[in-house]
Amino acid sequence: MRTRLVAGNWKMNGSFAENAALLQGLVGGLAGFNTVRCVVCVPFPYLAQVSAALQGSRIAWGAQNVSEFGAGAYTGEVSGSMLREFGCAYSLVGHSERRAIFGESDAQVAAKYAAALKAGMIPILCLGETLGERETGATEAVVRRQFEAVVNEVGIEGIGRGVLAYEPVWAIGTGRTASPAQAQAVHAFLRSCIAASDGKVAAELPILYGGSVKSQNADELFAMADIDGGLIGGASLKTDEFVAICKAADR
Ligand code: PEP
Repeated sequence: MRTRLVAGNWKMNGSFAENAALLQGLVGGLAGFNTVRCVVCVPFPYLAQVSAALQGSRIAWGAQNVSEFGAGAYTGEVSGSMLREFGCAYSLVGHSERRAIFGESDAQVAAKYAAALKAGMIPILCLGETLGERETGATEAVVRRQFEAVVNEVGIEGIGRGVLAYEPVWAIGTGRTASPAQAQAVHAFLRSCIAASDGKVAAELPILYGGSVKSQNADELFAMADIDGGLIGGASLKTDEFVAICKAADR
């Protein structure tokens, strides 16, 4: 059985006081869960606070971005080895906001994925189409292109050391969720792309769904055969919501 995983993406939100309340609620609320792996991906300045608050809990933490470079004259960048020093087990890579707002290319995302692996983290590779791409029937071509850029960099073995997150851009932060059937179709497609190279990796790789997941729709999404959990934005900032979503995946 594949690992179930729910990752929260706090985006550029938080303060010491807000984080402390949220983290305390999560540590208590998620303590009794059995199978689901829970992760929070937080802004860089809060990594020390989060690592202290989650030490010894069953919640892992990670970053929302990682530099493709190892060290040196890259002002403003944060390397994988720095993130590991803060205990980051995960890093998001290629979130659609980074691709769209900060111009990250497929090649750059692939290099970041490789850098996260090299630093000993588990990269969560975000893939997904825009509304226009969906409406012109390009969804599979887009996610395949994004996926293959990373395979070309790290091979299928490298894919097997990460996690995929299918996030249709039109569903992120919009309140508009892909239907379970729409999400399942893309997840199954991605799994078939992996299976073409390696059946074992395809069978074992967690593929998360992200895009306006809430406690009300988590059950039906996570009931799909190829959806192994979620990448949660807005709802990860609310203790009760995030705990309820993790509970939906804890089976
Ligand atoms: C995200 O930021 O990855 C995300 C899925 O956001 P939201 O859940 O708010 O749509």
